Amino acid sequence: MINPERVELVRKRLGLTKIGFAADLGVDRKVIQRFEAGTADLPAPCFARMCEISGYPAAFFYKPSSPEYPNPKGVSFRSLRSLTAGKRDAAMAAGALAFEFDDWISERYELPSHDLSQTKEATPAEAAALLRATWGIGQRPIGNAINLLESHGVRVYSLAEESRHLDAYSLWRNDIPYVFLNTLKTTEHSRHDACHELGHLVMHRHCGSSHPDAENEANAFASAFLMPLEDLKAEIPWARSLEQLIEKKKRWGVSVASLNYALNKAGRISDWNYRGNYIALNKAGRAHEPNPLPPETSQIWSKILGDLWRQGVSLSRVAEQLSVPEKELNDLLFGIAAPRQPPKEAIALSIVR
Ligand SMILES: [Zn+2]
Repeated sequence: MINPERVELVRKRLGLTKIGFAADLGVDRKVIQRFEAGTADLPAPCFARMCEISGYPAAFFYKPSSPEYPNPKGVSFRSLRSLTAGKRDAAMAAGALAFEFDDWISERYELPSHDLSQTKEATPAEAAALLRATWGIGQRPIGNAINLLESHGVRVYSLAEESRHLDAYSLWRNDIPYVFLNTLKTTEHSRHDACHELGHLVMHRHCGSSHPDAENEANAFASAFLMPLEDLKAEIPWARSLEQLIEKKKRWGVSVASLNYALNKAGRISDWNYRGNYIALNKAGRAHEPNPLPPETSQIWSKILGDLWRQGVSLSRVAEQLSVPEKELNDLLFGIAAPRQPPKEAIALSIVR
């Protein structure tokens, strides 16, 4: 039997309303409404057309299990209000697919479990310092942020949504922290987003991240986590020029704008220079990061995909087993997995087959 919930998932993944979906399928919207409500069957030509336009194999729609969506209440969804319903649905549907993919992987590989402390009472800077201490990073700059998160049990997936309004979101599921990152942004932007979401995971797990201060708190966490104050002050006792910031930003892997802001907060730049830098950077636009960092990729995914490959299991075989188009898995790993690059440093990852 065709599972209406699976049809709904694909419709949402396509970012379509029932009306838009019905139009694409060439049927009256009532056909979709009745079907999703479980009161009528889907006509056979309509089903064939749905497989065709979505690229989903028929088997996906016959899966009996209900898809599990990210709980919107538990999701810290930056700029949620500025997202269209369709884009939000598509991102949530991607989350539901990521869970199925993640479960498939978890059945085969033992991934690191998380060691994120919950710090409800602390300020963002204190929470960042505490997590650094817990993770034994001290005042050192963060190398690869994706690897750092993954090695501490955060599951990182890509949001390959062409939406400038959607940077990232994060959530807890069965005591596993997840971060979804828009990897189409600059590396500096993605690193900030990853640490911003880490802030939500650490500070807002129980109180939720919808309160008005949550965004500012997560941004302050990201800044303090990426640029520990002591290290910042030691490296830049006094900021003299924009060129100096452009050169120095690489130490912390942040945007020049973030560094400019942090130095101003730390009282290490004159207001005049801070404002001048701010205007100059704004003129260039956030998409044009000076002295850019190379993209970051995940070591864990490179290991998993490498191991699957050695067993003769390509990503398209995994997609077949999950009955999803390979493109969905590629999108979830887009800009995160780079199977051809050898890992630089080892992460403990035991294989439980
Ligand atoms: Zn946020």
